[in-house]
Amino acid sequence: MLKGVLNYAHYLLEESIEKGEKVIDATCGNGNDTLFLSNIVGEHGHVYAFDIQEQAIASTRKALISHQRTNVSLIHDSHSQIGDYIKKTEIGGAIFNLGYLPKSDKSIITKAASTVTAIDSILTLLKKGGLVVTVVYYGHKGGKDEKKSLLAYLLQLDQKEYNVLRYGFINQKNDPPFILAIEKKI
Ligand code: SAH
Repeated sequence: MLKGVLNYAHYLLEESIEKGEKVIDATCGNGNDTLFLSNIVGEHGHVYAFDIQEQAIASTRKALISHQRTNVSLIHDSHSQIGDYIKKTEIGGAIFNLGYLPKSDKSIITKAASTVTAIDSILTLLKKGGLVVTVVYYGHKGGKDEKKSLLAYLLQLDQKEYNVLRYGFINQKNDPPFILAIEKKI
């Protein structure tokens, strides 16, 4: 019955993104969410996929080629620079997977300052009713600092403008991931 965290993240995006829209994968990693978003927006939509690691960009590129996707821009830069790449464009939704790239260098992690800067930029571009979904992994070194700062930032968002949801399983051991989703109301 209850959806797992990754399924629920996808469900939220599927429910709020329309075909033909422009969307953002802020941490493309191995490209799973990029492919997922590419499917939802369809051939007339577009996905902007960011990652700071060459390895992540390369594996996402490989996945896109093998699935014959042409509606994605791969951007090898920090998501904190989103405003340099996407201007005056309405965004239908966005996803972040926080933490480190699985099976890779655990010292290359998302960090609160850039995560918050990126979310802030996306919120200015987001459509009314759009969602920014973050999957928060915080079991690694540095993860708890990011979680704390991100929660502090989201707590002060005006409830007249945004709904902020937390979704996760509170009886799981070992720092289970959870979702923080922001809905733009106006
Ligand atoms: N922990 C998740 C995966 C997280 S992947 C899981 O287990 O499934 C996180 C990705 O974010 C990595 O590929 C990493 O290179 C990327 N990343 C880290 N900082 C970033 C930044 N500032 N901008 C864009 N991507 C970033």
